Amino acid sequence: MLVSGNNGFICENCIEQAHHIVKESREKNDFSPAQSINDLKKPKEIKAFLDQYVIGQDQAKKQLSIAVYNHYKRLLHAKDENREVEIEKSNIIMIGETGTGKTLLAKTIAKELNVPFCIVDATILTEAGYVGEDVESILSRLLMVAEYDVEKAEKGIVFIDEIDKIARKSDNPSITRDVSGEGVQQGLLKLLEGSIVNVPPQGGRKHPDQKYIQVNTQNILFIAGGAFDGIKEIIERRLNKQAIGFSSEKLNKIEEDDYILSQINAIDLRKFGLIPELLGRFPIITYLDKLTKETMVRIMKEPKNSIVNQFVELFKMDGVKLDFTDESIDRIVEETMEKGLGARGLRGTTEKVLEDYMFDIDEEKEIVLTGQELNFK
Ligand code: ADP
Repeated sequence: MLVSGNNGFICENCIEQAHHIVKESREKNDFSPAQSINDLKKPKEIKAFLDQYVIGQDQAKKQLSIAVYNHYKRLLHAKDENREVEIEKSNIIMIGETGTGKTLLAKTIAKELNVPFCIVDATILTEAGYVGEDVESILSRLLMVAEYDVEKAEKGIVFIDEIDKIARKSDNPSITRDVSGEGVQQGLLKLLEGSIVNVPPQGGRKHPDQKYIQVNTQNILFIAGGAFDGIKEIIERRLNKQAIGFSSEKLNKIEEDDYILSQINAIDLRKFGLIPELLGRFPIITYLDKLTKETMVRIMKEPKNSIVNQFVELFKMDGVKLDFTDESIDRIVEETMEKGLGARGLRGTTEKVLEDYMFDIDEEKEIVLTGQELNFK
């Protein structure tokens, strides 16, 4: 079939093809960070945005908002050709138990800023030449997310998870090579400091015949996260040495843990096994609070896409009204806290509790979840 226009015709195949192209390009992520200082969201606004998705963790949210604001201000500053002062970037390290919201924070920030974002696991990285992925593969992921638009990728955010797992195993620099730890830290240095890196487009290991894409990492913001098991003891030891008494104040266990963690600094991380050069490139150290029962309850209910809302929505599609009583939420939280997975476990527990109801979805039109009859098995 030919469709006529002003000066010609277009056939149905071409129409379909053109339609596809238009559709695809519309669906593409259109990353575009702010172009002027007025477009940049102020730290308070960034934090307010984070508040919609992340419960609690006020200190981390505040520090992150400031850091990100400064980072993108720095990008604008770098465009100014008459500048006399060079502002260096400040990567961020976040310390907190698993499931306290580290990844969620980084992901939410990237969403707010409209820049490419990727998560990489530090444990898959090895020193060049060993089995595992080279550090450059981190940037392959970012490139992929930015659809190989190098310029956009160069303004992105990379979240490096489990950074604590590449800590040096002992305090003494060893004479034998430490493939999984220090070597990787050394490798990361060149990405972090801002240099031009040859990135294998497909990720994985570098191969002599492969074509590389050159990526400048100067403006990529790196956020690292890790649980740092045992860091508390390290901080405690240091604090005791400095004879700072915190035991005089009456604090409960969680408050005390949070207090100790809030005192964390680079010395502790160095003791933990991160090399000083690496720490130097993460000037901002922030920590996430342990999740209390109250916070977990809020996580169930409050975020925009809270677990409660998600399941209510899911049941609504079948015309079923699902109602969580406060008591049922309390029970789900208690059950989850025993598993020690942090808020990450909430979804699994809720799934389990709702399993039978979901199986028998067409039997009832209204379900009220009370505390007693929940089935966690
Ligand atoms: P981690 O600290 O291990 O990176 P995540 O950020 O991946 O933890 O958290 C896992 C999940 O738990 C998130 O996807 C989110 O649903 C939930 N979660 C964790 N902490 C919070 C929080 N502070 N506020 C809201 N949801 C949270």
